[in-house]
Amino acid sequence: MSTTIMYGNVVADQIRSNLKTEVEQLKEKAIFPRLVVVIIGNNQASSTYVRIKKKAAEKIGISSAVYELEEDTSEDYLINLIKQFNEDLNTHGILIQLPLPKHINEKRVLESISPDKDVDGFHPINVGRLSIGQRAFLPCTPLGIIKLLDYYGVSAQGKHVVVVGRSNIVGKPVGQMLLNQHATVTYCHSRTKNLFDYTKQADLLIVAVGQAHLITKEAVKEGAVVVDVGNTFLEDGKVVGDVAFDELKDVVSHITPVPKGVGPMTITMLLHNTIEAAKRLN
Ligand code: NDP
Repeated sequence: MSTTIMYGNVVADQIRSNLKTEVEQLKEKAIFPRLVVVIIGNNQASSTYVRIKKKAAEKIGISSAVYELEEDTSEDYLINLIKQFNEDLNTHGILIQLPLPKHINEKRVLESISPDKDVDGFHPINVGRLSIGQRAFLPCTPLGIIKLLDYYGVSAQGKHVVVVGRSNIVGKPVGQMLLNQHATVTYCHSRTKNLFDYTKQADLLIVAVGQAHLITKEAVKEGAVVVDVGNTFLEDGKVVGDVAFDELKDVVSHITPVPKGVGPMTITMLLHNTIEAAKRLN
């Protein structure tokens, strides 16, 4: 079978170039998209992600500010800071880098972000809007998957989509978005019995678990489309997905690699959402 490898890095480059042009056009109308990112504590991985986000924003002309707060920052201090960003007319996107230290209530913090500046799409208002099919800020990884499928001409309408993983940031919203596109959606998770009985039925299989090579050749139907969201760092520093790519690549019709698959789309969608927020707020 001839298999299409869906390269997120290629699609992301193209989208970022279009976004850069859009930012230039907004600046001509005196709209200067601005993203603020708040990071609390010394989580190495979080610091790296924040650095990458800032660099990506600046590369396409979005101004960004990173607030690095001490590990013992109080919840009230953080919420007050978010309130200031909510009221600041020059700030369009607010991103609180997760995870937060244990003493801070994540739910309260995320709910304090204005839904109109919630470029991560985690506020319950945006989650609710997605679920009833209204215009919403959509979470970046699921939105990136949708754009990637669009680019490669994969339509979900009428297809059986199986989503493995039901997190609030990936599994649930991607299933919801595909349901809104008229797919028939099945969710699987850690308590699902006989997982492969479900995955084998998928026309479109989305895997967001975080277990290296959970999905083997026996788990998929010939000709299926497979999207691998998983990222597992091996001891040798290599990153691998939830899907045994080498086994599947001659069996399926489309598949994303890891790395260079879903990953680059996620940050691109953060940029997309920030520009969208700047347009909506002006
Ligand atoms: P979570 O840990 O929040 O969720 C994992 C999900 O997988 C849960 O729903 C869990 O079930 C389910 N699960 C665990 N084990 C199994 C199993 N054996 N069989 C079936 N389902 C199982 O992870 P995230 O959704 O945040 O992330 C998933 C993966 O995607 C990670 O590797 C993460 O690094 C990666 N990721 C990649 C991004 C990117 O940009 N490329 C962005 C975000 C995440 P249950 O609910 O029952 O516990």
